[in-house]
Amino acid sequence: MKTIIEPFRIKTVEPIRMTTEQERSRFIKEAHYNLFSLKSEDVLIDLLTDSGTSAMSAEQWSALMKGDESYAGSPSYYRFEEAVNNLMPFKHIIPTHQGRAAEAILSSIIGGEGKVVPNNTHFDTTRANFEDVGIKPVDLVIPEGRDPAADHPFKGNMDIGELENLLQTEADNIPLVVITITNNAGGGQPVSMANIRAASVLSKQYGKPFFIDGCRFAENAWFIKMREDGYGEKLIEDIVREMFSYADGMTMSAKKDAFSNMGGWLALNDDDWAEQARARLILTEGFATYGGLSGRDLECIAVGLKEIVDEDYLQYRIRSIQYITEKLDEIGVPVMKPAGGHAVFIDARELLPQIPALQYPGHSLAVAMYVVGGIRGVEIGSFMFGLQPDGSEVAAPMELVRMAMPRRVYTQSHADYLIECFEEIYRRSGDLKGYEVTWQPPSLRHFTARLKPL
Ligand SMILES: *Cc1c(COP(=O)(O)O)cnc(C)c1O
Repeated sequence: MKTIIEPFRIKTVEPIRMTTEQERSRFIKEAHYNLFSLKSEDVLIDLLTDSGTSAMSAEQWSALMKGDESYAGSPSYYRFEEAVNNLMPFKHIIPTHQGRAAEAILSSIIGGEGKVVPNNTHFDTTRANFEDVGIKPVDLVIPEGRDPAADHPFKGNMDIGELENLLQTEADNIPLVVITITNNAGGGQPVSMANIRAASVLSKQYGKPFFIDGCRFAENAWFIKMREDGYGEKLIEDIVREMFSYADGMTMSAKKDAFSNMGGWLALNDDDWAEQARARLILTEGFATYGGLSGRDLECIAVGLKEIVDEDYLQYRIRSIQYITEKLDEIGVPVMKPAGGHAVFIDARELLPQIPALQYPGHSLAVAMYVVGGIRGVEIGSFMFGLQPDGSEVAAPMELVRMAMPRRVYTQSHADYLIECFEEIYRRSGDLKGYEVTWQPPSLRHFTARLKPL
């Protein structure tokens, strides 16, 4: 059969509260035009993030009951550690309450004024955590990765030539090299095994530890299986193990490719760094065998890590993103191609050429999606990234809107509804206007800033 079905049945449901366009216009105004300030009950299809929004399986819900809440040495920790080690055999596995806590702990070890960290593209929390300790984050994705229309099987790849340049010019200032799989901020685009290997070899040549930001490791492995020579017959688990075999450590948000609603970890091989990390963990998160998590969360992650590498799931997952991307492309909506792993990305600069970058075309589109269809996406462009540490504003390299798909949550008819909404948005696109920020915090402004339409 050529139809790919959702490889699950639904046992528990959550109602969607229906709203009208008129009501939604009022809700977004009351939220100061910030989609993060909406009540989620006022959203029909919530594609704000794929983070922590997964539907848990019956297996995970039953594992919850096995959660052992002992302060130290809980069996839940050991099941978690074993599940992580099965895929990512690092010496030290340090649980945290989510990915950014792992980043903050890592930052506390490697930070300092004048330091520089290369990455294919830093995700927003990674960037903010590094900047917070004086590190300058440098994005070195290949040129195709910056062009939403460019076709490349691994648009998330690191530019190895640029990495070598930086390693030469900033040698003493680079505490480690990071690669993010898949490249979230750059469109959920995958990184090839060859690229991971090359970045790792180069880092070692210059004596630098090589870390993976592994939030979507299973989706990345699926793309490698589908697109990279020599991997078509390999098991996803083995592809995952090979990816991490090149790394000295990783940060992870279990809210992505571990099917958990909460959690993360920092894993690494270096004993000295691990000791510093655990000292920091105890100060900010909790004891070494629970981090910021309940025993039951650790159990959910352990089961989630087994389910996420299932090929039927990954095939359905990646295909559902491709389906929406193809349909929007047919309508004429400029989408990031080829489709990434967890989200559909729309190029708002191209869809709304009448809106200048610093009037946030992506944000304008995101508001229109909510008003027209009750769909909540998120701007990834000058509103999210334009504010500089010194308070000035610079246009981001791309003006994207991301619709991130929660895992195992929405069905084909939700996708078809979304596509129909876009037909309407496309018709109205010429009338959409820009926005102005009326209040903002000094960093990560997109979460709380207030705006008004121009
Ligand atoms: C989500 C994410 C993080 C941060 O994880 P949280 O659990 O949200 O703190 C870091 N890097 C990437 C690539 C992510 O997608």
